[in-house]
Amino acid sequence: MEEFVAQLLDLQDCDRSIDRLKADLESIPREVKIHRKDTEGHEAKFSLFRDSLDDIRDRQDKLAGDRRDSVTRVADYKSRLISLKSNSEYTAMLKQITHTEKMIDRIDNMIIEAMYEEDEALLALEKALKERDRAVKRSGIREESLKEKLRELENSLGLMEVRRAEIAAKVDPKHLKMYEKSRSAGHREVVTGVKNGSCGGCLTKIPPQSTGEIKGGKTYTCPLCGSYVVWTSDSSF
Ligand SMILES: [Zn+2]
Repeated sequence: MEEFVAQLLDLQDCDRSIDRLKADLESIPREVKIHRKDTEGHEAKFSLFRDSLDDIRDRQDKLAGDRRDSVTRVADYKSRLISLKSNSEYTAMLKQITHTEKMIDRIDNMIIEAMYEEDEALLALEKALKERDRAVKRSGIREESLKEKLRELENSLGLMEVRRAEIAAKVDPKHLKMYEKSRSAGHREVVTGVKNGSCGGCLTKIPPQSTGEIKGGKTYTCPLCGSYVVWTSDSSF
């Protein structure tokens, strides 16, 4: 392999690592976002259960108030019974008392029902609370390790960029310029290997004679994609 091709190959390996590191770095904020969203979901579920428990308790307060009023009313009706003069007034008042007492029974049933609902809502809330706390803890740990990973990646990237600069400094400016231009045009394999007798960059068949020469160490420039085609460890005819 000609020296400048070997240098470009080194440079290309370096750039590949840099690309990978940058992609990994970009994935971290996305992952953090996913974890935060998960926590928010648990938070929302928790407040939903808390709201429903609050509703039940409001209802319980109202029922207790209604019951107190009805009990007061019954006591009042009963106290007025003695002073009633006519039979019809007395009968009407007794009816009123029976009616209100039945209402108290209905309220009592609703109070018991609401107590069961409260128990269930409390259990659901406790479960949601545990799940939320678990999610918060899990996200916290994950976020910490992602921050750690971020620092490591930034560190590796810094080192790799230094290494790249060192390699680039050794490459003939003419070849370096060609390489950079090709890469900025989206060409990721400026130096490529022979793959099944074809250019590894664009898969165009290479004449058998040229393939032989490539194996012998000669650099071949692909007429289609412009890649430098060399013989690599995984190359084949
Ligand atoms: Zn090609």
